[in-house]
Amino acid sequence: VASEKDNEDQVNGPYGSYPEGSNWEEIISYFLQKKLRVWCQISSGQWELGTIQSNSGAEASVMLSNNKVIKVSTVDLLPTNPDIVEGVDDLVQLGYLNEPSVVNSLQQRFSRDEIYCNAGSVLIAVNPLKDTKQYGDGLITAYRERVMNDPHVYAVADAAYSGVMQDEVNQSIIISGESGAGKTETAKAALQYLTALGGGSGIVDRIPRANVILEAFGNAKTSRNNNASRFGKLIEILFSRTGKICGAVIQTFLLEKSRVVQLVNGERSFHIFYQLCAGAPSTLKEKLNIRMASEYSYLNHSECLVIGSVDDAQKFHVLVEALDMLQFTKEDQEHAFRLLAAVLWIGNITFQTINSENHVEVVMANEAIANAAELMGCSPNELKLVLSTPTCNRTLRQATDARDALAKFIYASLFDWLVEQINKSLKPRREHSGRSINILDFYGFESLKKNGFEQFCINYANERLQQHFIRHLFKLQQEDYEFNGVDSTKLNFKDNQECLNLIEKKPIGVLALLDEELSFPKATDLTFANKLKQHFKSHPRFKGERGRAFGVRHYAGEVVYDTNGFLEKNRDMLHSDSIQLFSSCSCKLLQLFASKMVNYSHKPTVSMCSTEVVQSPEPGAGTKYKVLLCDLFRKLERTSHHFICCIRPNRNQVCGVFEEDLVLQQLRYSGILEVVRISRSGYPTRMMHQEFAERFGFFLKETGVSRDPLSTSMAVLQRFNVHPHMYHVGYTKLFFRAGQIRALEERRKQV
Ligand code: ATP
Ligand code: MG
Repeated sequence: VASEKDNEDQVNGPYGSYPEGSNWEEIISYFLQKKLRVWCQISSGQWELGTIQSNSGAEASVMLSNNKVIKVSTVDLLPTNPDIVEGVDDLVQLGYLNEPSVVNSLQQRFSRDEIYCNAGSVLIAVNPLKDTKQYGDGLITAYRERVMNDPHVYAVADAAYSGVMQDEVNQSIIISGESGAGKTETAKAALQYLTALGGGSGIVDRIPRANVILEAFGNAKTSRNNNASRFGKLIEILFSRTGKICGAVIQTFLLEKSRVVQLVNGERSFHIFYQLCAGAPSTLKEKLNIRMASEYSYLNHSECLVIGSVDDAQKFHVLVEALDMLQFTKEDQEHAFRLLAAVLWIGNITFQTINSENHVEVVMANEAIANAAELMGCSPNELKLVLSTPTCNRTLRQATDARDALAKFIYASLFDWLVEQINKSLKPRREHSGRSINILDFYGFESLKKNGFEQFCINYANERLQQHFIRHLFKLQQEDYEFNGVDSTKLNFKDNQECLNLIEKKPIGVLALLDEELSFPKATDLTFANKLKQHFKSHPRFKGERGRAFGVRHYAGEVVYDTNGFLEKNRDMLHSDSIQLFSSCSCKLLQLFASKMVNYSHKPTVSMCSTEVVQSPEPGAGTKYKVLLCDLFRKLERTSHHFICCIRPNRNQVCGVFEEDLVLQQLRYSGILEVVRISRSGYPTRMMHQEFAERFGFFLKETGVSRDPLSTSMAVLQRFNVHPHMYHVGYTKLFFRAGQIRALEERRKQV
């Protein structure tokens, strides 16, 4: 058994550096001789501990922990770290930085409920899927007073707060990870920390309540996550000069509105519908004709009405409290609930074919149309006309689509209206100082059994996010090193620009080609799919599939999309007669939504069943989304970044289970392993000379000596005997090895 001394040698010894490849022969004989444990890959991505028994060239016999001896190729062996090192706070400290060691480190921490871990400048958060008692006022104080410095989302939030207050640079906390990885919960914890620090005004209590509203209307149970975000969200928290929160701005991105009308088996629509049906007081239920969720076809067709432990009725009360706090009047609240009820009744409207030529008509006999019309404030006949205008010769399918389009429009407009009202309530009373911290929480990467336009947009956003992450951590680092003459081996990283080009490049990218179809009345989802296949047949990120399908090789894996519905969802148009109907309804919210629609598209809208009228194409929903995302990342560019990478520990949303292959897959594609490698090999901390001199120059205690920032920096470094190996002086910046600035800061505090 290896002694502790040997293990220390390993870490500091000649083999401790990454990549291992160069000294591999030597490492094996070293490990054989010292009887140290190795990682042995027994099947793809699955590693077990073992000890090398003998080694002959490319093959070795290894005894696994169950005493079984197997023969493996030496490429399937990797060195382990001493036990004391695995499970470290920062993966940068791992002597041997290989995949099984990193996964094992995270797993060890996970089993101790230590869900956070640093990877250089990135925080990794492995979703525990249970309450780990790691949050609350006591801990917030401990992080604020720096009594605690274990990796934590609070530490990240604290760094952002210090950044904005001390350095007066606006900050962004950017949270990534796939669906179910814990982004939204992490964002809430960061918010909790910031509101605790910047408390004082009434606005502070309102911000978390805004989240309650957004989650009720914008989250849903999916196969991956019982509380999956179905929209992207940026919260900008505004601070006064004294560090108090004086307001917030919430921006949301592309709500998955198709969920209102169509559900995959086992998934639910937006939480609010079930909350309303379960929790509305009986007077409201009577007034708005609200039934049980099981009576609505939009809710009951997926055979999933409840989520295990969730009490929808109780959640409804929490929601109403939140609406009260955010100054929604009782009248406005009722308007919103009325529209939700209308949407549900719209979904119950059915059609019948009335003659052999496939004319369809609304079934008037059932109560749905009467109830929907009453809630919207129009007559059943007016509503009926919009749904089955005979001039259009609608087919049953077209009539259903028109019905669903109404429901989606009402819901999406209601969501936007809520966000607008929330923002009014969070608006700073006075001119604010311009200081702010952004928290970005999007819907995570998704690869489902069936993927449509929504998944395409969600995954596109995640590609963008990933690019932002990579750009920041690698490209900028590389450029910085080169510019400042730091001798660094060429940083090696996977960029996803190729995939982004496939999606968004003009004039030929998926979104541009999709927009092109807007001007071809005869275009169908199939012709679009064929066009893609024709243009991208040799694109490395594209994969032609059978029929209407196509595949994209995303950074996080390959996803096959079905183009069914792409054209319609990209066009995202409402019939002009529907808009007219809304304007004439007595419901004031519907009137408002209709007026926005009219202002928004100046051009006349084209009826869906028209084949002759060609509209000069306005950009489609996909392109509009692209513009929004570009603006978003441009805005974030101007801030200082903090990255949190959330990891989903298992496929079944259960606590206590850590699936190594799944975790490894996420670490690989997120680029985390490379982040650690680079942080370790290079100089993770850097500061402009000016900044450094201002911060530490006072140490020199000399008066009358005027120096330029560069020589001030040098003098400080000399005065504190910082070892020359620990820093590099660049043209514009100073570069430090890990931990150096922390040490200087400690001394600064002592002065
Ligand atoms: P999506 O992309 O689908 O919105 P997400 O990354 O936002 O997913 P969350 O909704 O934050 O995922 O997390 C999923 C669930 O995991 C939460 O509802 C909660 O039950 C649990 N969870 C996440 N983070 C934590 C945490 N830090 N502590 C305890 N439980 C957590
Ligand atoms: Mg979420």
